[in-house]
Amino acid sequence: MTFTDRTALVTGAGRGIGKAIAESLAAQGVKLICVSKNPASCGGVSDAINAVGGYAVARAVDVADGPAIESAAAELIKEFGKIDILVNNAGITRDGLLARMSEEDWNAVIQTNLTSCFHWTKVIGWPMCRNRWGRIVNISSVSGIMGNAGQANYSAAKAGMIGFSKTVAKEFARRNVTVNVVAPGFIKTDMTADLSDEIPKGVTDFIPMRRFGEAADIANAVQFLASEESAYITGQVFTVDGGMAM
Ligand code: NAP
Repeated sequence: MTFTDRTALVTGAGRGIGKAIAESLAAQGVKLICVSKNPASCGGVSDAINAVGGYAVARAVDVADGPAIESAAAELIKEFGKIDILVNNAGITRDGLLARMSEEDWNAVIQTNLTSCFHWTKVIGWPMCRNRWGRIVNISSVSGIMGNAGQANYSAAKAGMIGFSKTVAKEFARRNVTVNVVAPGFIKTDMTADLSDEIPKGVTDFIPMRRFGEAADIANAVQFLASEESAYITGQVFTVDGGMAM
């Protein structure tokens, strides 16, 4: 994949899928801004990237806090001159059947997974348009495509990311800024730890490949969508799920 003098900001880069995305882009020579909630988690990833000859900085930003995102993004654009690649990956779950779901759990999931995309994309996307080059990749979920019992908040947020991405893809297309979505299926990370440690009988029956994916499987798709080679692809949803959502 070709990356020429590119800087990327990856949210949720402290662990799991975001860490794999940050490390895979850094290995291609991309400068990395690793964002997560806990400074030790994004700091550990940026240290690891710098230790193997890459370039990374860490920023602790709570993506559920819109004004904090907008001020951090504006400062980072000033500091780096430009941000070419934005990966909105930070996310949480607060699962429960609708009848028992609190408004607090609804709001927390919508804020962290969906509203965060609005804020990062608004502040970082316009300078990309002015530069006439940009790649935005939003990490949704097969839950946003198929629905999933116990995840009304999460499925709504992840489906919202798809509608949001298609709209922004249309708004930014003439400026050479693409916006695509990667929708993972079950991937082995902390988020699925209680499932993947001892995969309950029946979960993999829904996955044609009969196994969970690795964070690197998602990072590989993101790397392509962030590269020069994906220039004519925008507004698309790529499911990376071992065939589950087909
Ligand atoms: P994970 O292992 O739980 O990691 C989540 C990352 O998001 C962490 O780095 C965490 O920061 C960060 N984060 C959470 N809340 C945040 C907040 N308020 N502010 C800033 N950062 C925050 O999750 P994952 O499995 O890698 O998931 C990554 C993305 O893929 C999520 O959007 C998730 O919905 C999506 N996804 C995952 C799966 C799966 O099977 N794993 C499937 C479909 C979609 P700290 O490290 O600082 O805590």
